[in-house]
Amino acid sequence: MESIFFEGRKNHSQERAQVRTGAPASSDFSGASETDVREEMTEICGWMYSQGLVAATDGNVSYRIDTDRLIITPSGKPKGHLRPRDMLLCDLKGNLIEGSTKPSSEIQMHITCYVARPEMRAVIHAHPPTAVAFTIAGIPLDACVIPEVVTTFGGIPTVPYTTPTTEEVGYGIRDYISKCDVLMLDRHGSVCVAKSLNEAFLLLEKLEHAAHVMWIAYTLGNVQKLSPEEVAKLLRIREKLGIGTRILPCRTEGGETTFRL
Ligand SMILES: [Zn+2]
Repeated sequence: MESIFFEGRKNHSQERAQVRTGAPASSDFSGASETDVREEMTEICGWMYSQGLVAATDGNVSYRIDTDRLIITPSGKPKGHLRPRDMLLCDLKGNLIEGSTKPSSEIQMHITCYVARPEMRAVIHAHPPTAVAFTIAGIPLDACVIPEVVTTFGGIPTVPYTTPTTEEVGYGIRDYISKCDVLMLDRHGSVCVAKSLNEAFLLLEKLEHAAHVMWIAYTLGNVQKLSPEEVAKLLRIREKLGIGTRILPCRTEGGETTFRL
């Protein structure tokens, strides 16, 4: 079992930084310049688009560069065609500091995440199709089924439906995002928070992959949940590996745990 936080892919910005300095670039981007952040955000948006985790102008990405400011993707621009200079500098109240276009309409949701989780630097909201389809079908993703998902995500909660682009979304996730790093917005999308953009993207990629596996399993039928004993063993391994994601418990075979807070 590999943790994504030990084996996460190196992104192009990190590779460039390594070439420039001769030393490994920081995985949490601490000390990164605004220019580097804008470049990495552009890359992440390109990955999201090319992997089908968003379509057209969907989704949004932000990075908190210090205690008072964040850089966020603009509203209404295709994620597959963004440039570093398109990213916008805003304060943590949502006011535009630098840039000539409008910040993402979900900026309040990003701010909610940073207020609830001040240790986090990156927030990615996407529309991963398989994971979203589960919420549309009313099938929760909080069951203990895939061992690696148990160790990284625990149970993935689904936040009750709120209207996209409104302040409802931020209010809706507040109680959840303080307790976990990955969640689903009912019939809408996903939210992943992490200490770096790269880690947040890997959570998103893993989320959609897990949902895809679950979809195939449900199609085949007889989805087997892990037992409480098997889950307890996995959680001990998680502790031993030092996997640092914040997780809610998942639903075991015969377990009654629910994530509707
Ligand atoms: Zn959305």
